[in-house]
Amino acid sequence: MKVLVIGGGIVGVTTAYYLAQAGMDVTVLEAQEEHGDFGATAGNAGFLSPSDAFAWASPSALKVAIKSLLNPELGVQYKFHMDPALWAWTASFLSQCRPSKWAKNTDSKYRLADYSIEMLQELRSITKINFDVSDQGISYASRSAGELEKLTKHFSFLQDRGLELEILDRDALHEKLPMLDANSNIYAGAVYSPNCKTGDSTKFTKELAQWCIKHTKCRFVWGASVESILRENNKISGVSTSKGEFKADSYVLAAGAHSSILAKQIGIKLPIYPIKGFSITAPLKDTKTLPMSGFDDTDKLVALSVFRDRLRIVSSAVFDGFDTSHRQRDFHSILKLAKEILPDIANYDEATYWAGLRPMTPTSLPILGTSPIENLYLNVGHGNLGWTMSCGTAKIVADLIAHKTPDIEINPFQMK
Ligand SMILES: Cc1cc2nc3c(=O)[nH]c(=O)nc-3n(C[C@H](O)[C@H](O)[C@H](O)COP(=O)(O)OP(=O)(O)OC[C@H]3O[C@@H](n4cnc5c(N)ncnc54)[C@H](O)[C@@H]3O)c2cc1C
Repeated sequence: MKVLVIGGGIVGVTTAYYLAQAGMDVTVLEAQEEHGDFGATAGNAGFLSPSDAFAWASPSALKVAIKSLLNPELGVQYKFHMDPALWAWTASFLSQCRPSKWAKNTDSKYRLADYSIEMLQELRSITKINFDVSDQGISYASRSAGELEKLTKHFSFLQDRGLELEILDRDALHEKLPMLDANSNIYAGAVYSPNCKTGDSTKFTKELAQWCIKHTKCRFVWGASVESILRENNKISGVSTSKGEFKADSYVLAAGAHSSILAKQIGIKLPIYPIKGFSITAPLKDTKTLPMSGFDDTDKLVALSVFRDRLRIVSSAVFDGFDTSHRQRDFHSILKLAKEILPDIANYDEATYWAGLRPMTPTSLPILGTSPIENLYLNVGHGNLGWTMSCGTAKIVADLIAHKTPDIEINPFQMK
């Protein structure tokens, strides 16, 4: 069977890998050139973290929004403008904030993320690709004993579902993260998730694409932007791109935040809104620095990872449409925190600056599998956790195309 995958970010490439492993003839169409920046894949925090499976729509979402309005440094910004798509998305998001909905969504997301890490481990042992992974866990730090206690209680929801956790006091946190400035005694401690990982999703995506080209019947067409999807009756008959027309038996939409724009052309309304985030990547001064655990300052909402010789620091959630432009002041809080807790680690003057879009659904759950169109499958809406969920969601979609029953219950992720 011939399958066309639209989008060559982390989700598109992992989908191609599992389809090719199932013996299919796969072509990936990606708008960017081979060495370009692949959407949100290009600059994310690098967390491989079922520990971040909490649905964003929660009983405390409004509190976070108000806290952010009072303290713009927190980086959650809701731009009030004439965008009916944002209003519809917000109404749907608010309907998911009830405790029962939050618990259901978080439970489903955790099970998917956990399964996905299992799939990633299997993929790693088959392909042996290098993506600067660190298996050192992730620390979620808090600045006061009171906040740490609340954080511990919050995480117990995932602990009850099998997530391994340890509580670190201040000394244990500094032992786990020797890079943290010894004088920055600002943290009371952390909730530590030992089985989580960090890794560079761009490097992974590029290495996996090369592995697929070398070992499978997979073809990549970079620089092919899908301009229109051609529909005849209730089937896709082809796609028209900047590099000509392509045809297949089945099609998978995996274009990240832009999936909703492409789907709209063929009458499918996807509840995905682009939520912008910012990151900087700075070279480490000492390239022999040991791998370290990922780190999340839960009070400032800033996350950081070390990818072998570089530091990635990420923050912000800006509701402002598809614009990915950025200004120096967007990185103020990231740089301030980095210089406070890791003053001598990286060459911040040589940092590169980036903004990208989380393809977020109101439930925080991705949308997977069949669509209202017979031969079109969806692998979209991975939100804040697409790197973590990529292998699991790709395996599920490939199983469905191959008429196999997926390994986990997929009802929560199907298009309603
Ligand atoms: C600031 C930030 C921090 C994040 N941190 C983490 C994290 O720590 N851990 C985690 O698990 N997740 C994280 N995420 C989320 C994760 O990056 C995304 O969920 C994930 O990248 C989505 O993957 P994707 O392949 O669906 O979309 P993308 O990565 O956006 O890729 C989509 C691809 O489709 C291509 N495309 C779009 N339109 C077309 C078209 N018309 N024709 C052809 N190609 C097209 C794009 O060029 C792009 O390459 C973060 C996201 C952001 C923004």
